[in-house]
This record gives sequence, structure tokens and C-alpha cells, in this order.
Amino acid sequence: IPAEVRSTPVKQVSTPVAAVDACVTGTKAAFTTGRTRSLDWRRDQLQGILRLLEEQAPAIHAAMAADLGKNDVDAHLTEVLSVKSEVKQTLKHLERWTRNRSTSVPFLVGSARAHVQRQPLGTVLIIGPWNYPFHLLLMPLIGALAAGNSVVLKPSELAPAVSATVAELIPQYLDAEAVQVVEGGVEETTRLLEHPFDHIFYTGNGTVAAIVMAAAAKHLTPVTLELGGKSPVWIDSSADLTAAAESLVWGKFSNCGQTCVAPDYLLTTLELAEPLAQEIARVTRRAFGPEPASAENYGRIINERHAQRLAGLLDSGRAVIGGTAKVSDRYVAPTVLLDVEPDSAVMQEEIFGPILPILTVTDHQGAIEFINARPKPLALYAFTEREEVREDFLAQTSSGGITFNTVLTQLAVSTLPFGGVGASGTGRYHGEYSVATFSHERGVLRKLPGFDPTRLAKAPISWGMRKIL
Ligand code: NAD
Repeated sequence: IPAEVRSTPVKQVSTPVAAVDACVTGTKAAFTTGRTRSLDWRRDQLQGILRLLEEQAPAIHAAMAADLGKNDVDAHLTEVLSVKSEVKQTLKHLERWTRNRSTSVPFLVGSARAHVQRQPLGTVLIIGPWNYPFHLLLMPLIGALAAGNSVVLKPSELAPAVSATVAELIPQYLDAEAVQVVEGGVEETTRLLEHPFDHIFYTGNGTVAAIVMAAAAKHLTPVTLELGGKSPVWIDSSADLTAAAESLVWGKFSNCGQTCVAPDYLLTTLELAEPLAQEIARVTRRAFGPEPASAENYGRIINERHAQRLAGLLDSGRAVIGGTAKVSDRYVAPTVLLDVEPDSAVMQEEIFGPILPILTVTDHQGAIEFINARPKPLALYAFTEREEVREDFLAQTSSGGITFNTVLTQLAVSTLPFGGVGASGTGRYHGEYSVATFSHERGVLRKLPGFDPTRLAKAPISWGMRKIL
């Protein structure tokens, strides 16, 4: 990526606040026409997303380079291919995921049929963050459209190139009345949140999530909150250290650690800490060379404010590799820290950057206690070949998801629900879970002629029931 692309921030554009209301009204009007309910319309929209991904990949790559200094290969993998796979999967199963499901009727109800109808919720608001700015808007959009909703999309103002690209491309490929884009930051989002949506899907940090939830509560609007937090990793001596180090280097330093499910910190035993740190350092050198600042496959921090915040965390321990930053270039070196205390600055909040602290505990039970003493993580990772250790993690911890012997790849398994628990979020999506999130599951009961216990001897219901029992 040429330096000038990385260092030329795109100017952020906002939708005028008065136009925000018109976007919401228009999107709601599109739902009211009823057209979004038909499977044909839903299929057309999903095909539209597929065409957009196929024809506009270069524009998406360029926006990713400008906002996050990402190279084309990384951008293609995380922002284009992953979304493409979700659309294809959804198109393939659309009919099955949206059709009525028959359910049994108990004898006491008499002759009757029952089924569950998945209905669209109406008009939904999707608010995206800056770290995977395209992916994290489009993934929920797929579920919302597959479920037959109209949608207002609000990209993050902190990724202005992607925001502008989304605003330009979406109307070209999708029903431009039913899917509208509002660009902007706090002011525009605050205005959006004044409207009564049928669902709000928010991805971002917990502080803003509380604002979104409070605004939604005024209209009793349900919310899905995809948040973050500190995702821990446990490694014991039964694990293949090189394989673990390779997985961690990829998971922690891709996108410069600005990934919601990135391994945040590492827990291991005292004996393993140093050899593990050295192995991670060796793999890091192999991945990014002696000068990661000029490595083609190493990105940048989203802005100087975040780079400054991260630079302030670098002295929380002894740097085995990295430990440097150049804030004006939004550069923070891939860093591994040893001798980190639980009360150090780097352990106080989600790092969201390329700094990997290693802390020591006595054994895996010590790790479980450490994890359970903190807010429930979005992702929990354990590298171990011991079944009893896996069982203890499964039985004694709570987290959005749990992944053994790899990191991040759980996101590619669309048959698994993706979401947090407690402070790491509320609700889930991906694959059929997305369709369920953006649908109302309505219970439908139809009485048939024939046996009807409520009519027994024209007596009150309680009498009739007593007769049967
Ligand atoms: P961000 O700053 O882009 O904010 C997210 C969205 O909230 C933006 O669209 C922004 O305009 C809006 N917003 C900001 N302030 C607001 C306010 N006062 N009122 C209303 N809306 C407001 O992104 P971020 O929060 O820095 O994102 C990083 C966080 O998101 C991390 O904690 C990360 O772990 C989490 N995250 C979670 C997931 C997930 O899928 N669970 C994915 C990515 C990121």
C-alpha cells in the first residue's frame, strides 16, 4: 500500500440531520408497501449484495487501505470473501430458514394444527463500527433482508472511506427505498435513535451500547448488542507451542489487533511464559520481518487518538518484541509483553491493538478463577490437548463463544451463533441465527372440527377439564 494512501485520511461526510428523518420515513414506507415480505424480493436483495461484492471488490479494497492501511489480500479475505460466503449460504437456505415450522398440539387442546411463522420485524437500524467497517454492516444486513425487513444502515464515521463507499454503492445494487444509508457520527446517530425502529442492531463498545439501549427502551425497541471486552487465552504444556504461536500471531496482529474476538491477553504457567513469549516473537519476526512498519502485511491503527492510547500501554511489562510506536503514522509495533501485573494499565480495558500481555497463573484452575473474576468475555480461547481441561473450561466459565486450539476461525462457522453474554453483548447472529434475530416468531393455532374439550357438556372449561383428568 503506497504510503500516501495510508496517510491521506478521507474527509468524513455526514447526512444532514433533516435528511436523517426523511431516510427513516422512506425506509418505513418501503416496508409498508409489503414488497419486502416476498421471497422474490429478499432473494433479489441478496443477489444484489453478491453482485456488489463481485463487481466492487477493488473499491472496497481501496477504502480499507485508506481507513485501516489494509492490504488487498487481507481486505479481500475479511471484508469481501467472508461476506460473500454468508450471502451464498443464506441464498441457499433462504426458503428453509424462513418457512413455517409445524409443531405438535397437546391432547387437551383437541383437534387442531399449530405452526410457528417467522415474520419480518419491520424497519431495522444497523449501526456499524470502524474496525471491520464493511463486513460488520453487511453481515447483519444479510440477515435483516433475508428476514424481509427494510433497513437503515449507519456506518462508522471513523472509517470515512468505507462509509462513503457504502453510501455510494448500496443504492446502486439494492432497493434504494428499502435500504438507506445515513452517514455521520454522534449527532446523526442520536437523531436516528429518536425514531421508533422495530429492532436495533448495534456493534461497538459497551459505553455507546448503553446509550443505544436507553434510547431503544423509550420505544420498547428490542436490541442486539455485539460488543467486545478482553478475550483471554489459556495455554498449557500439552499444546503444540509453535502451532499456538502461529495462530496467536495471526489472530492478534491481523488488523493490528483491532478485532473484537482478537486474543486480548495470555494466561499460562510460570515455566511456559518465557519459551512461549520467545516462540511468539520468533513467529512475529517471520510474519512481518525486522521492520513491521514497512511490511506490506502490517496495517495501521484507525486514528492518532487510538495510537496514542496504545502507546501509553507499552510500558505495562517487559517487551520481548516490539514495544515501540509512532503515533503520527498511526503505527504501533507488534508487541509481546512479559512480567505483566493484573493491575497494570494494559489489563484494565480491552486493548484493541497489537499488544499481547502474558500473565502467569498456577494452573488452568487459576486461569478459570482469573477469568471468572472479570466481565464475561466475547471469546475465550484455550490451547490444550487435555480433555479434562477442556471440560473444566466448558463447565466452569461463561463467554460469548469458546474455541479450542485456534483463534478467530469460529467466525467462519456460520452454523455457530455469534454474540456475547453479559458485558460482551446481547443476542446472536450469523447464518440462520441472523434470520431468527431479525424475525418475529409468531405462534399460529388453528382449531379443526372434531374433538374439543372446551365444549364438553356445555359446561365451564374447568368442569370439562376435570372430566378429562
Ligand atoms: P465506533 O467508535 O465506530 O462506534 C460504533 C458506532 O457507534 C458508530 O457507528 C458510531 O457512530 C456510533 N456512536 C458513537 N458514539 C455514539 C453516541 N454517543 N451515540 C450514538 N451512537 C454513537 O466503534 P467502537 O465502539 O470503537 O468499536 C470498537 C468496539 O466494538 C470494541 O469494543 C470491539 O470489541 C467492539 N466490536 C464488537 C464486535 C462484535 O461483533 N461483537 C465487532 C467489532 C467491534
